[in-house]
Amino acid sequence: MRINALINELLAYALEKGILEEADYAYATNLLIDFFGEKGFTKEEIKARDLDAILDDLTAYALENGILGEDDIVSRDNFKAKTIDLLMDRPKEVIRKFHAFYKESPRKATDYLYKLSKDVNYIQTKRIAQNIKWKHGAEYGTIDLTINLSKPEKDPRLIALQKGQKSGYPKCHLCLENEGYRGHIGYDGRSNLRIIPLNLNSEPWFFQYSPYSYFEEHSIVLNKEHVPMVINRGTFIKLADFLDYFPEYFVGSNAELPIVGGSILNHEHYQSGRYRFPIEDAEAEFFRKAGDVEVYALRWPLSTVRIKSRNRESLIDYAAHILDAWREYENKDLLIVNSKEEPHNTITPISRKEEEFYVFDLILRNNHTTEDRPDGVFHPRQAFHHIKKENIGLIEAMGLGILPGRLKTEFDLIGRFLSGDEEAGRDERLKKHWHWVERIKDRYNPETDAAGFVLEEAGKVFSEVLKDAGVFKMDEEGQQAFREFLKSL
Ligand SMILES: [Zn+2]
Repeated sequence: MRINALINELLAYALEKGILEEADYAYATNLLIDFFGEKGFTKEEIKARDLDAILDDLTAYALENGILGEDDIVSRDNFKAKTIDLLMDRPKEVIRKFHAFYKESPRKATDYLYKLSKDVNYIQTKRIAQNIKWKHGAEYGTIDLTINLSKPEKDPRLIALQKGQKSGYPKCHLCLENEGYRGHIGYDGRSNLRIIPLNLNSEPWFFQYSPYSYFEEHSIVLNKEHVPMVINRGTFIKLADFLDYFPEYFVGSNAELPIVGGSILNHEHYQSGRYRFPIEDAEAEFFRKAGDVEVYALRWPLSTVRIKSRNRESLIDYAAHILDAWREYENKDLLIVNSKEEPHNTITPISRKEEEFYVFDLILRNNHTTEDRPDGVFHPRQAFHHIKKENIGLIEAMGLGILPGRLKTEFDLIGRFLSGDEEAGRDERLKKHWHWVERIKDRYNPETDAAGFVLEEAGKVFSEVLKDAGVFKMDEEGQQAFREFLKSL
């Protein structure tokens, strides 16, 4: 009776983690046995292993017995999420508990939802632990890098199966309708997702954790409606409202324009979490006081104005004032091309609380393109695309580089080549890196660790990538123009 033991083990796990309470035990048991095609159940005393091990075995059982028909990573993940959801509180009860904890403190509420999201494997901590993380000391500060291995790679058979599977529901992965969505082969389900309603600037919004967890307590704040990203005065109000809910979290928005925005422009959302990003430690040069708002220029590759104030309203007004001024700004000598007819300027805003101060970091962005730089003048140049070609969005702009998973194998090959393995150097996958490998290979000291050397060199490339995204360069001409812009405010 292997399935009986596995069901017992899953129930024991859920009780131990507080996902399930005794009052729901018989009910949850009956949902589970039905789900696995059983007619009866015998209680057994079992010490639970970790959830991955239990769900792997339950999924294997389901595949063997025809309960799960498709054996691919998406179908298996969706099946696992459905299984654990049978033991979870419904959204209404999760919201009730969240509010009860919130009355004690915002921290208790976020701790509750974050722990729950991990305990039910909505945040897959085991997969995320495979990510490769390191730091790079640049001349303006230390930046963080991650090779993201938490999104499993899809094999060609799965990609073929997924073709034509789009149903248009939910409209996107950020839509409210994802909560509890079972998913299908063409869509990652969210059976075990739970989200919390918020009110930002008198609009209905929601708060949830990110399944990819790029940093501690990585969360997403989303508009109830599937409406496009926008940056305006209302954005600053919504960010400040969020800080009033969760003063221990930072919150920031991607810009709304292509090239300088994030990967999802069609659903208004923010990212938040409990993480100290490199930009926070950037040297801040005091520039002036404007009423009760302090204005600083950051020494940071992406041109950033930091404003802080104890007075929330003054800060929102001043942020809106900077946004208006930047929307009008143009400097053709520095290739910052912009006009009313063809607007290219926008801001990536990040906000947090420091004791009684509200702090906004306003990153100035421009997305125009030229024949020479068709991907964007302030976008990673083509010579760096072998490492990073995606947009420099909010997270990257704050100094945390998220690099594609393929780099794990490719860096490994480069390391082997540097250590004398000529065969590794002939691998097709190194073609795109070759111009870079040629340049760095002479700097490599064969006495030292090749893998560490490659990461260090990749850190240098990412630092250059950040500089590419900066509108006012870190040289004298750029900094002079940056100061003139600040003076004009
Ligand atoms: Zn949406």
